[in-house]
Amino acid sequence: MGKKYDVAIIGGGPAGLTAGIYAARAGKSTAVIERGLIGGQITFTDSIDNFPAAPGMNGAEYAMKIQSQAESFGAEIIMDEITEVTAPETEGGTFKIKGNSDEYEATAVVLATGLDNRKMGISGEDGLISRGISFCAVCDGAFFRNKEVAVYGGGNTAVEDAAFLANICSKVTIIHRRDRFRAEQAVVDELKALDNVEFVMTSNVVGVNGDKALESITVKNNETGETRDIDVSALFVAIGKIPNGKPFANLVATDEAGYFDIGETCEASTPGVFVAGDGRSKELKQLTTAVSDGSIAATKACHYVDRMNGQEYV
Ligand SMILES: Cc1cc2nc3c(=O)[nH]c(=O)nc-3n(C[C@H](O)[C@H](O)[C@H](O)COP(=O)(O)OP(=O)(O)OC[C@H]3O[C@@H](n4cnc5c(N)ncnc54)[C@H](O)[C@@H]3O)c2cc1C
Repeated sequence: MGKKYDVAIIGGGPAGLTAGIYAARAGKSTAVIERGLIGGQITFTDSIDNFPAAPGMNGAEYAMKIQSQAESFGAEIIMDEITEVTAPETEGGTFKIKGNSDEYEATAVVLATGLDNRKMGISGEDGLISRGISFCAVCDGAFFRNKEVAVYGGGNTAVEDAAFLANICSKVTIIHRRDRFRAEQAVVDELKALDNVEFVMTSNVVGVNGDKALESITVKNNETGETRDIDVSALFVAIGKIPNGKPFANLVATDEAGYFDIGETCEASTPGVFVAGDGRSKELKQLTTAVSDGSIAATKACHYVDRMNGQEYV
C-alpha cells in the first residue's frame, strides 16, 4: 500500500500547483505528482505578459514561485508519472493511484494533467521555441507587434489565430498542408477579407532558420516539391493539441478531442474526483483560467474530504 493523502493532485502545472496551495493551506495532507517539468507548459516561455501583477515574469521563475508557495504550506511534490487511478467501490473509500515509480492512495483526486502542444517534428524546432516559435497567439502575439509572422495550420485555431495576429502584426502568412481549410467557412471568409494576410496552401513548413531567434521559415509546396524561404519574426504553430487525460477516462468523461468534458464546477461525476486546467474542455486556456480551476477544484476536494470525515460545511 502506498502513502495515503487527503488530496492527491495529478499534474504539477499552474492548475495543479495552485490546487496544492489551496489544499495544503486548508490543512489537508496534499501530494502534487508531476511526471516531467514542474510548471508545465508555462516553463517554455521567457516572458509572461498577461498574468495580472506579474508582467514580464519568466515562465520557469513563475513555476518555481508557485512550487515554493505550495511547499511552504506543506504540499509534497512527487516526481512520478501516473498511469492509472482506481476509484473506491464505495464513496468515501480510498482512490488507488498507480505511478511508474510508486503507488499512492488518496481520499480525493484532482486531475490537472493539462495538454501537450503538437510539434512540427522538424530540426531546430526545440531550440527556437519561445525564440520565435510559439504555440499560443493570445500569449505571445503582442511580442511581435508590427512584425511579419506566420501561422501553421488549417483548423479553427489556426485561422482564428491568424485573424487575431493580423490586428497586431504588419503581415501574417498562413500555411496549410491542404488546398482548403478545415476551419468553419465563416472564420475563413473573415480572414480572407483582411488585406495583410497571405495564404500559402498545399504546403508544409519544412525548416525553421535562425540561431538565437527565428529569422525565416522554409516552406515546401506538396504538389510541385518547390521550396522557398519566408522571412518572419515568429511562427505560430497551430497543428493540434493533445490533452493528457486518456489514462483517466475511467473517472471522467472526455469529449471527442480527449478533453475532460466537465463544466465550470470542476467536479466529475465520479465522487471525489475534480478536474482543473487546460485538460478541461473550455474556451480560454490560459494561466488565469488554469489557476482559477485549481482553486475551485481543490476547495471542492477539501470539502469532499471533510464530508467523508463526517464534517459538514454550512
Ligand atoms: C510557449 C507557451 C507560452 C505560454 N504563455 C502564456 C502566457 O504568457 N500567458 C498565459 O496566460 N498562458 C500562457 N500559456 C498557456 C499556459 O501555459 C497554460 O494555460 C497553463 O500552463 C495551463 O496549466 P495546466 O496546469 O492546466 O496545464 P499544464 O501547464 O499543461 O500542466 C500539466 C502538467 O501535468 C503533467 N502531467 C500530465 N499527465 C501526467 C501524468 N499522467 N502524471 C503526472 N503528471 C502529468 C504535465 O507534465 C504537466 O506538467 C503558454 C503556453 C505555452 C506552451
